[in-house]
Amino acid sequence: MGHEPGGQLSITTEVENFPGFPEGIQGPDLVENMRKQAERFGAEYLYGSVVEADLCKRPFRVDIDGDWHEARTLIVASGASARWLGLPNEQKLIGHGVSSCATCDGAFYRDGKIMVIGGGDSAMEEANFLTRFGSEVTLVHRRDQFRASKIMLERARSNPKVKFLVNTIVQDVYDAEKNHVTGVRLRDIVTGKDWDQAVDGFFVAIGHVPNTKPFVGQLDLDEDGYILSKGGARTNIPGVFHAGDVQDRTYRQAITAAGAGCMAAIEAERFLEAEGH
Ligand code: NAP
Repeated sequence: MGHEPGGQLSITTEVENFPGFPEGIQGPDLVENMRKQAERFGAEYLYGSVVEADLCKRPFRVDIDGDWHEARTLIVASGASARWLGLPNEQKLIGHGVSSCATCDGAFYRDGKIMVIGGGDSAMEEANFLTRFGSEVTLVHRRDQFRASKIMLERARSNPKVKFLVNTIVQDVYDAEKNHVTGVRLRDIVTGKDWDQAVDGFFVAIGHVPNTKPFVGQLDLDEDGYILSKGGARTNIPGVFHAGDVQDRTYRQAITAAGAGCMAAIEAERFLEAEGH
């Protein structure tokens, strides 16, 4: 497990579309249930980050925080991590007003002015959630069409504390010298008008990048770094399988990732069985 054990689910709130939970379930609770369930069947957990992998020959070798581990088969389920805007001062202010996780950091901005960037389900979810804390929440999106599902968009639109700013891009976030966020510079891309707006909490919710760095040059990846599937859960390397968002750029739901994990486990088991293990 990497630096975000439980992945995106562990930093989300209500999960409404995982079957078996008619009232919905909190993301961290779902992760904890899964962890305990796998443990009951003998799964062992090792916390650390994969920094390098050697998949040239078997056993495969994986460097976890400086220690090499061997495996006869490998399931890569390293997910995808938050994408940033790339603003000049964004990285300097992470943890000082800039965040990618509303559930982690929202409470720091009680009665403050909060801004959320993005037009997908994550942005809608974060904007809604942050109205619990902020005096106002402004959702900024670069287009006037939304990628978000209808239900999530409607929920945000009908929330009186969420204001929408569309066709608007962020040019920078201030104030790195004060070491906390005080405001942003925005641009209306239709009129070309620039202006500054005071902000206390700045939440970026613009999607994710797949965590495949240790596998570059070994696993076949697409142009954005997602694993290219060779059918089922198979990668280009026999014995190495994929599961979840590290390969899936279309569905990216907890339930599709869980299904993919099941496929990968079955394929890994059959692969080992065929070798007589
Ligand atoms: P997403 O659907 O890929 O949406 C990303 C949004 O960020 C898009 O609106 C995109 O704008 C915008 N964006 C990307 N790069 C940008 C940039 N450089 N500057 C400004 N805006 C930028 O990602 P997501 O919202 O994280 O959702 C990912 C998946 O998780 C989806 O399948 C979603 O359904 C799922 N999800 C589900 C739930 C739930 O059911 N509770 C909650 C969260 C997420 P454009 O539209 O212009 O490209």
